[in-house]
Amino acid sequence: MRDAIRPETPYNHRMEGWIRIGDVQVDIERLRALAHTCDPMKCRYTKCCCRSYEVTVDKLEIDRVAGTVPDAAKLAPTLIEDGELIDPIDETEGGYCLNTDEEGECVFAYRTEDGAIRCSMHSLALQWNLPPEDVKPKSCTLWPLAIHGKNPAQLSVQDDAYDFPCNTPIEKCTPRLHRGVAEIVEAIFGRPFLDELQAALPQTPE
Ligand code: SF4
Repeated sequence: MRDAIRPETPYNHRMEGWIRIGDVQVDIERLRALAHTCDPMKCRYTKCCCRSYEVTVDKLEIDRVAGTVPDAAKLAPTLIEDGELIDPIDETEGGYCLNTDEEGECVFAYRTEDGAIRCSMHSLALQWNLPPEDVKPKSCTLWPLAIHGKNPAQLSVQDDAYDFPCNTPIEKCTPRLHRGVAEIVEAIFGRPFLDELQAALPQTPE
């Protein structure tokens, strides 16, 4: 059974090495030990996030995601079946998720001529001059980070993140988050949250 990436799931974790910012507990040890660089070319022959998870969407995202289908289908042919646009949302016992093809690949994923796997919602956002996080599901923007629980929510790293070639461990901890991780934190939580997190990182590498 495939793991789900979802913005919020129940989770318990040790609190050593965590800091709290507002309503969020942040696993700073794991966040700052991660380097993340999205490179669709690497997805050609290796594990890819767009065909590895059940991508959950919340009710508020359903209309937004469904609204992209007519344009996204011009890039992602899996959004068309028998000449008709498909419903990209599947309802499960646990809520709603994005549909996949028979290979388990998200119906919004598509391949470019060079074989790279790309997200049609992400591509549309760039065409529309919108931040991708304003178009894609939160689960996708967040990956390879993960949010568990509520009050407080816990921000950490997806357990299988290092199975993917776009994620590598940082051997020597630095006093700043890796740029790819910082961009995700800013997209989800905003710039003031990121600044507070960066300032809270121990400044002397251990
Ligand atoms: S919506 Fe886009 S980023 Fe998310 S799994 Fe599908 S193709 Fe990948």
